[in-house]
Amino acid sequence: MRSLTKNILVLIFAGLLQQCSYSQSGTNHNKPDNMDSTKKNSVYSQTDTSKVELSEAEWKKILPEDVYNIARQKGTERPWTSKYESLTDKGTYYCAACGNPLFKSDTKFESGCGWPSFYEPISKSSIIYTPDHSHGMTRTEVQCGRCKAHLGHVFDDGPPPTGLRYCINGVVLDFEKAKEAEKKYNQKQ
Ligand SMILES: [Zn+2]
Repeated sequence: MRSLTKNILVLIFAGLLQQCSYSQSGTNHNKPDNMDSTKKNSVYSQTDTSKVELSEAEWKKILPEDVYNIARQKGTERPWTSKYESLTDKGTYYCAACGNPLFKSDTKFESGCGWPSFYEPISKSSIIYTPDHSHGMTRTEVQCGRCKAHLGHVFDDGPPPTGLRYCINGVVLDFEKAKEAEKKYNQKQ
């Protein structure tokens, strides 16, 4: 009877040890994911749709200077300076500040205005629209729907089917090539 109690105690103890090691391996498992996301910044995610609200000081700390100047200070890059202006690769354009998917390459067009131009955002929640009366003009500012980064402006002189022209600063865009398209291209080579 005594040895039975002892055995049960040993079993419970072994069970506790096992639980402990499980939770430890759980923490280890999370590590690689965290490391991937630090590639950009702590809020950057192409899948998380929750809103990002940081103070200007925090943004300044985590964004590269050129991205900060446009995204948070509403700056404008010089025309014809973005590598995305003439890019025709298939893929998706994300917000460079937070990773929110903004535009698909299928909706990009040659506008001749000097900035990457699109006629339609990926979804309604991709973009926030705000009237902008600065510089003596009446324009509509477009901001990232997730982090409110200033992206550019939208005009009503775009091509069909929307008739809109989203004129976007390339600095605040982050392009990722479509994986399928890339695969096909590589197979042809
Ligand atoms: Zn954003």
